[in-house]
Amino acid sequence: MEAPHVSGSLIVLVGPPGAGKSTYARRHFPTGCLCLDDYRQMATDDAADQSATPTAAQIQNLLLDARLARGLTTVVDSTNVLPHVRAGLLARARYYQRPAVAILFNLPLAICQARNTARARQVPQDVVRELHQMTPTAEQLAAEGFTSIRTVGFHAPARL
Ligand code: ATP
Ligand code: MG
Repeated sequence: MEAPHVSGSLIVLVGPPGAGKSTYARRHFPTGCLCLDDYRQMATDDAADQSATPTAAQIQNLLLDARLARGLTTVVDSTNVLPHVRAGLLARARYYQRPAVAILFNLPLAICQARNTARARQVPQDVVRELHQMTPTAEQLAAEGFTSIRTVGFHAPARL
């Protein structure tokens, strides 16, 4: 699949833990991915330590400004299910006059929970459920001002 963006865009991944955001980002964007988990890990040796989120967000925003100011495509790889978080990202894209693209991970809760269970770093399943419920629709994202929206869904493996 072609990378879904105009060069220099801000690309915001949106979806619950376990949806496959980081996997998708690694596959499609070999550079330019900003991930709060990485910065929490660097600050505390624990990617899940939410007390480090303010520090991680500061690092993310510094890098975001540096890249958007240079017209470099930049991916924000975190859940981004909270409207105020997306509003902050949209404001930055507007400031730097860059298109804001949302990639919405629209997968059944059971798939997100199964993928979450199968990996090394596990988020509590009730948190996965809560964030899954908070995930916006494509229509909501369009109303918020995203320039374009791409939806990633679940495709069951083909039977051999
Ligand atoms: P978090 O918000 O917690 O960082 P995430 O959305 O980044 O979660 P990933 O870590 O990318 O999710 O993926 C969760 C698990 O699902 C991983 O073990 C990954 O290998 C697996 N996975 C991701 N995408 C797919 C896919 N398309 N098919 C099958 N398994 C997948
Ligand atoms: Mg991830």
